[in-house]
Amino acid sequence: MLSKETIDIIKSTVPVLEIHGKTITTTFYQMLFDNHPELLNIFNHANQREGKQPQALANAVYAAAAHIDHLEDILPVVKQIGQKHRALNILPEHYPIVGENLLGAIKKVLGDAATPEILDAWAQAYGMIADAFISVEAEMYQEAENAPGGWRGFRPFVVERKMKESDVITSFYLKPQDGGAISSYLPGQYITVRVQPDNESYTHIRHYSLSAAPGEDYYRISVKREDAAPGKPAGLVSTYLHNSVNEGDVLEISAPAGSFTLDQEQNIPLVLISGGVGLTPMISMLETVLKEQPEREVTFIHAAINEGFHAMREHIEQLDAAHHSMKSYVCYEKPLDQTLCHKIGYIDLPWLQEVTSKESDFYFCGPVPFMRAVNQALQAWGVPAERIHYEFFGPAGSL
Ligand code: FAD
Repeated sequence: MLSKETIDIIKSTVPVLEIHGKTITTTFYQMLFDNHPELLNIFNHANQREGKQPQALANAVYAAAAHIDHLEDILPVVKQIGQKHRALNILPEHYPIVGENLLGAIKKVLGDAATPEILDAWAQAYGMIADAFISVEAEMYQEAENAPGGWRGFRPFVVERKMKESDVITSFYLKPQDGGAISSYLPGQYITVRVQPDNESYTHIRHYSLSAAPGEDYYRISVKREDAAPGKPAGLVSTYLHNSVNEGDVLEISAPAGSFTLDQEQNIPLVLISGGVGLTPMISMLETVLKEQPEREVTFIHAAINEGFHAMREHIEQLDAAHHSMKSYVCYEKPLDQTLCHKIGYIDLPWLQEVTSKESDFYFCGPVPFMRAVNQALQAWGVPAERIHYEFFGPAGSL
């Protein structure tokens, strides 16, 4: 338990730290990687460079500190982050290292304003927050290991099949090298891939949503190749998977994780909206609902730049033709053939009102500007927050 004085110090300094939030976490990551370069095997280097990860960490630490006397209120957030940590194989011994460098960064950025009392209060608060994460994650490791076909950490999987889905998206079918069973998953969850391309000093870890309904003896992921563009290097893992990983090769995978999952207790109409490669968790949800809730109305909306970028189009058309409960729509930003889509340009509220019902459960995933637009449209329409669900394909942010 923290003393009242400590809690008061934490609460009164959270706003000050928030002002310096990103500077502190950017300094923190620099110190962390200088002191512990081995952690570069775990952290995503691109997210560091773009500042997304420092921002996400700053938000998480300050939200936790602001709730330090009732951490249970932010348990859902702790669990969501815990899922990612378990997938990345973050272990209890990493927490003191992070704590030491975070305090070092606070001291460096705040200078004399960081009195010994403040630093001590933050050390105690960090200890409590770390304990909360460690215990939530310990349960998650147990659960992942004890599930039928489950395991702890990373397990080698063989690429059984590699299949091109569009100009930029390729699917990988993965089976465990040991020939054993695999754990099931909830539609919307992801698996996590760890690779070390030949010329790389570190391992690189990325999450990929499972892009098919559960119940097979393989996992399928579908990966977009992030090509180089002016001022932007090619994505490391996605281009490696596309260009260098072939059928028969082995990838290390950690067990399915994630809290963006389809609520099958609901029976109200379901609307699945995706932009680009954001379709992967939506396909898994769609296939599942068609199988397990065949009478539930489902509308599948996919937005892509044009037909060349549209993955799994035929598959969706076949499902649509075979299921009376399903409707599907396509939106192309710049179609090559205008007859191939229902809407040209971007998804907007008037169009959503035409093709969906407000009394639905909405799930969406895609690039952040796309998700922001969909979220704003749904909010403007008055869809209640508990019926709006979305997944970030990067560090969690806000829309
Ligand atoms: P990175 O090397 O990580 O680079 C990411 C981006 O940053 C690239 O566009 C790159 O060009 C840019 N970049 C890198 N360095 C710089 C720099 N110095 N300056 C400017 N720009 C830079 N992806 C899928 O394809 N399919 C999925 O189903 C999927 N599911 C996901 C589910 C979850 C829960 C999450 C969190 C992510 C998911 N992703 C998915 C995204 C995936 O994890 C990777 O982020 C993605 O493949 C890019 O990784 P990369 O290594 O190729 O690119």
